[in-house]
Amino acid sequence: MNQVQATKWDIVVGLEVHCELDTNTKLFCGCPNSFGDDPNTNVCPVCLGLPGSLPVLNARAVDLAMRIGAALHCDIRPSRFHRKNYFYPDMPKDYQISQYDAPINCDGWLELSSGKRVGIERAHIEEDTGKTTHIGESGRIQGATSSLVDYNRAGVPLVEIVSAPDMNCAEEAKDYVSELRSILIACGASDGKMEEGSLRVDANVSVKPAGSREFGTRCEIKNVNSLKSLVRAIEYEALRQIALIESGEVVRQETRHFNENDGKTTTMRSKEDSHDYRYFPEPDLVVLSPDEAWIEGIRSGLPPMPAERRALIGAKCGAKEPGSPSANQVATVVSLGLDNLVLRSIESGGDPKLALSRAANEAAAREDLALRLSPASFAKLISMEGSGKISATQSKTILGAMLEEVAEQIGTGSGTESTSFSGFVECDPEKIAQERGFEQMDASALLGSIDEIIASNPDEWQRFVSGDEKVTQFFVGQVMRATRGQADGKSVIALLRAKKDDLQNI
Ligand SMILES: [Zn+2]
Repeated sequence: MNQVQATKWDIVVGLEVHCELDTNTKLFCGCPNSFGDDPNTNVCPVCLGLPGSLPVLNARAVDLAMRIGAALHCDIRPSRFHRKNYFYPDMPKDYQISQYDAPINCDGWLELSSGKRVGIERAHIEEDTGKTTHIGESGRIQGATSSLVDYNRAGVPLVEIVSAPDMNCAEEAKDYVSELRSILIACGASDGKMEEGSLRVDANVSVKPAGSREFGTRCEIKNVNSLKSLVRAIEYEALRQIALIESGEVVRQETRHFNENDGKTTTMRSKEDSHDYRYFPEPDLVVLSPDEAWIEGIRSGLPPMPAERRALIGAKCGAKEPGSPSANQVATVVSLGLDNLVLRSIESGGDPKLALSRAANEAAAREDLALRLSPASFAKLISMEGSGKISATQSKTILGAMLEEVAEQIGTGSGTESTSFSGFVECDPEKIAQERGFEQMDASALLGSIDEIIASNPDEWQRFVSGDEKVTQFFVGQVMRATRGQADGKSVIALLRAKKDDLQNI
């Protein structure tokens, strides 16, 4: 986005996120809710809409939908189901059961890691549709030689979360989706896997003259399947609308498709209005009115959400304002679910900043393995490093070895079928340190090494003594080489400064 456009136009983004609920069975029948099975194996008369079949609401799906509502600070209300009629081939009944004028969750908000609040208009329950695959070069229905349909997904429970049009750029939309994803995982509603379609994002994008109160005509970009694509799609679409308006044309309200390959959006269909769907109340289901005790149980049983966890870790680690390096480390650790590693280290007396840094960098680089590492093992490593038993370089090496042990235990990376192992993997950093000969460097040996290096580099030492801090790294590097990485960089710097002070105090 260039400067002129950025100052002349405001971008307005609202998002609709479809979240598949993590239930064992579908929303209205007992068919398994599982991804990746052979096509059309998880189907029955109810999800195929055969005459005479009746839907029965899945209580676990309602429970998870209310957890989402509670986590997003929504009002949880009595709700009812409607039939949304349409005739795409992906729904065998030719209608989808959804919630229309009385959704279960309304009027909430979500706080981004920047501290900004985005409104949540509603989060309602509906069933997913089947999946169509178009055979042909384009992969789309136009020009396809044939189309295949898999009804395994038809009837899978979804919650559709509709935000207010509160976001003003593509990056903010990305932050919203990643925050929402963390919340959905934290409340146990979803596995958050965008690549498997567990989370699917539609973006409503419009532009208006900077500062104007009136919204422009919006276009909806359907089914964006990664955060990276979301940013590209919104930026392309905003520029397209600005170019149209600046050349005297108008933006038409429509549904558009984002093409991953060329990074452009193209028309799919003109946008439907709600009357196109001929909504009417689903006659086979009663009004859904969870009682107060159920709702209260949901609210009080929610684990801490990401914003709360960021505040907790941020306070313990002395993180600065949002956007600062330390706050970014806190955001990374919480979004990956690695905060337990940090908290456990602090509880065991470890240095908070050190724990945060190892978790946000080395552990986060291999998050899938780090999530399975026992927090107690990580805490032990942090206290070894904090007390100077091992150097920073050695600590990173040991952490790498610990994560390798985790990989072996849980059976990833071997190429063979993974074992059913679950839970945390215990590792012993002390044992690894001994095996690798990482022993505590004797203080007098370290001093001896520093003295030798000072003696053979008198010019550099003179510069250091006269206050030139730039040569500090030179000495640290020399000591590291001489001790084969066994020395701790911070101790070396401290010893160098102490020597300099001694000289100056004589
Ligand atoms: Zn079924």
